[in-house]
Amino acid sequence: MIYLDHASTTPLDGAVLRKMLPYMTESFGNPQSQHGAGRTAANAVVAARDKTAHILGCSSNEVYFVSGGTEAGNTALKGVCAAHGKGHIVISAIEHPALTESAADMRKFGFEVTYVNPDNRGIVSPQSVENALRKDTIFCAVMSANNETGVIQPAEQIGDVCKKHNVFYYCDCVQTAGVLPFPTAHCDALGISSHKFYGPRGFGAMYIKNGGKISRLISGGMQQRGFRGGTLNAAAAVGLAAALEAATENSAQNNATIAQLRDTFVSRVLKEIDGSHLNGDKAARVPSNANFSFDGCNGENILFLLDLSGIAVSTGSACSAGAVTPSHVLTAMGYDAARAKGAVRFTFGKYNTMDEVEVTVAALKRAVQKIRGAK
Ligand code: PLP
Repeated sequence: MIYLDHASTTPLDGAVLRKMLPYMTESFGNPQSQHGAGRTAANAVVAARDKTAHILGCSSNEVYFVSGGTEAGNTALKGVCAAHGKGHIVISAIEHPALTESAADMRKFGFEVTYVNPDNRGIVSPQSVENALRKDTIFCAVMSANNETGVIQPAEQIGDVCKKHNVFYYCDCVQTAGVLPFPTAHCDALGISSHKFYGPRGFGAMYIKNGGKISRLISGGMQQRGFRGGTLNAAAAVGLAAALEAATENSAQNNATIAQLRDTFVSRVLKEIDGSHLNGDKAARVPSNANFSFDGCNGENILFLLDLSGIAVSTGSACSAGAVTPSHVLTAMGYDAARAKGAVRFTFGKYNTMDEVEVTVAALKRAVQKIRGAK
């Protein structure tokens, strides 16, 4: 298989797994337990939290382990709403459903929501965010880079705008952890998900600035100072910290290698496949992402044909009740329905090779020709 879907998930690194294994087998204690086995697990969690805090650039008591990017987004948005009781929310129109669906939930409780559109390059400007803020705005979320287009957002500047207006700013950093520096100093909270950087699935971390007006989402035991109940998965915490450390330390090297593969792929596709369009800004995007639409082709059909050739990619469109709806991200960028439905996302990772780029370009050419020929 040629795997070009790293924005969806990444394989667990062998070295990370080896660090996790002892906490799933011999050192299996509950970190809350008062005995030696519990203390061993608790020490591992403390070390993982310290390491994560160091990398995020915050103090250890500002780091919370959660189940991933979805819980992080829900905690931030709903937690701020719960702490205020009422108010206005601003989110970008290109946020992940973790935020858009959380905002939709909060509308049912009387919170008002403004969605800020990006420009046609996929960038949300700090000015458009500032224009959307009101006196009663309590929360704002704009992600660090979009998961469909990979387009990088001016998170630090948006954070500064929110700070000026005393609005809680959450930055979904799921797509940039280990790729770009964290905007920690410019936001009130951020979230990461370890399966996006070769760590374990179903686990993530949040930075929440001390003193922020936010309530807990998950009520339960006194784990994580009572803010997030539930028995901590010590193995996953160890895995997240190890994977984040490796991704951060090797970031420059990985980014350069991956960008070279992606750039070769992009220039070959644009040159060799007529009617191909790169979606989103060409320069301001994470090194792994190439999102294309092809005239006369539906993204689902391309995905299907590539899958038959053993190549894993994804589309931006969601399939609800059998009907394919165009990507909300590309639609918000002003693309028409055909282009938004035609999008295919290729996301490269650290184990891909130039040979795989070759094979994928050839398979893609065949797929596009076949679909166009069938019409
Ligand atoms: N936010 C972004 C930008 C994502 O890309 C994803 C996953 O694709 C999530 C949030 C959700 O993360 P998780 O799968 O850990 O719940």
